[in-house]
Amino acid sequence: MIGIDLGTTNSLVAVCDDTGPRVISNELGEDLTPSVVAVAEDGTILVGRAARDRLITAPDSGRAFFKRDMGTTAGYHFGGRRWTPVECSALILREMKRIAELQLGREITSSVITVPAYFHDQQRQATVDAAKIAGLKVERLLNEPTAAALAYGFNRQDDLSTLLVFDLGGGTFDVTVLECFDGVVEVKASSGDGRLGGEDYTDAFTAWVTKELGYTAPADQQMKWRNTLEHLKRKLTTEETVDLQIGDKNAPVTRTDFIEATKHITARLWPAVRRALNDAQLTPKQIEAVLLVGGASRMPAVQEMVLRDLGQEAQRSLDPDRVVALGAAVQQALCAGGSAVKDLVLTDVCPHSLGVEVAKALLPGHSQPGYFDPILDRNTTVPVSRIRTYYTMHPQQDEALLKVYQGESRLTKDNHLIGQLRIPGLRCTPEQKDGGTFDVRFTYDMNGILEVEVTIRTTQKKLTEVFEQRPGTMSREQIAEALRKLTPLKVHPREAPANRARLERAQRLFAELVGVLRDSLSQELDIFESALETQDSKIIATAAMRLDAFMRPYFANED
Ligand code: AMP
Repeated sequence: MIGIDLGTTNSLVAVCDDTGPRVISNELGEDLTPSVVAVAEDGTILVGRAARDRLITAPDSGRAFFKRDMGTTAGYHFGGRRWTPVECSALILREMKRIAELQLGREITSSVITVPAYFHDQQRQATVDAAKIAGLKVERLLNEPTAAALAYGFNRQDDLSTLLVFDLGGGTFDVTVLECFDGVVEVKASSGDGRLGGEDYTDAFTAWVTKELGYTAPADQQMKWRNTLEHLKRKLTTEETVDLQIGDKNAPVTRTDFIEATKHITARLWPAVRRALNDAQLTPKQIEAVLLVGGASRMPAVQEMVLRDLGQEAQRSLDPDRVVALGAAVQQALCAGGSAVKDLVLTDVCPHSLGVEVAKALLPGHSQPGYFDPILDRNTTVPVSRIRTYYTMHPQQDEALLKVYQGESRLTKDNHLIGQLRIPGLRCTPEQKDGGTFDVRFTYDMNGILEVEVTIRTTQKKLTEVFEQRPGTMSREQIAEALRKLTPLKVHPREAPANRARLERAQRLFAELVGVLRDSLSQELDIFESALETQDSKIIATAAMRLDAFMRPYFANED
């Protein structure tokens, strides 16, 4: 078993052995794999850095940020066909499996995968589907902030502490309040925003540059331009001023400019923190440690907000990019009964309220549909199972349509529909005991997946096959078909992921260089490509080393 952090921007894989959790690197020595997929000109599927590099020169050849579309019916066209977010995620998961198998030297079939606490049912189901396509069984879906707290709890098993995990990733924001004591990690409350993250900061910064400096990149340069601004954004985390090159002009941009340009995004952070604190019935003063998770939490504006509004410096003992993967590995060891974690216990909560739609008789003889009736309140400790009883509106009513919603609004139109179930056989006579009555049981498991069971009182008939409609999730046949499409053909050394990554990077550099340097690169590339044709691993390794040495100075800032 392995623990996987399937991130919006990057993904990581980790394991936990007797010495504790550790992140595993790929053959390039990198442990962050960009969550990007693409198709090369010859039809080869590229994953990770190779795909990211390809998107810079050929933006329509693949896709990044598909995690944001998980659980929807979104589709992307590249490489001559349509791809779903589930298929793209499956490719990343398959790459994680491959990296782990390579390093651990054995086949991997099970995993713990982390998801944002704010992921709803369809997004979780979609993640499980992606794992199936990648050939991985999901032992547990673990909420990302909970994973972070587990990694933290693993390091400090004897301390009592009330902890706030502030997780700002590429595309999602989660806040979780937990208590860690005597090896028990207990989640008190979770809150967040499923569409708020570091990428929104990059978008806001790009919009600011357009408005203030009057520059918009031409259509075919947009990916490259965004990449430039992404790097400047990161630089502004440590530097006060950076130089933005627009054509042959240099425009200085200060950290204050960046903070000002993105303050409407930063303003969306605090309401989620306040809600998590309220739900946990705690004041900021009662929080003993704040743990920052996710690359975007490095930004000074975030650290300042934590200091100002929570009254303390954030903990920096764990690397925000790796802490979620480490926690997933701790959970993996918990599932497998590993000796490193035998004293650790975890309890989690469901982050949203779950319930059904009801009609209310606000005036006699007139009922008004569209109201949300919660069965499980948000932040209930899981696993949990609750029953509520409902009635038909008329004795002659044959059937009812049970609509299941997730959210916090009183009206269902403002909540998220996660499925519906038709309940037949409800017609009754007025005098019949329990006529038209049915019990609805909601069971929410540790993976955050909801099961609904309906029992009709008069007949004791049970209905458990729920959610006739689950947009974005796949049938068994669809999974088999996706699996077939993604099955790799025989791999030539040229197609090995490390070599593909090298070639994509070299091609990208080739497009940037001119003159003598371009000629030298061309020579190195020729040597490398002839080495690949020999299919001799020693010759390939020597040529690869030469090419890497040539390219290293140009990418020093990126890796
Ligand atoms: P994650 O999904 O946790 O990998 O988060 C990645 C996000 O963090 C991306 O949006 C990055 O732009 C952002 N990020 C990473 N490093 C930094 C940094 N040093 N300063 C600002 N943002 C960063």
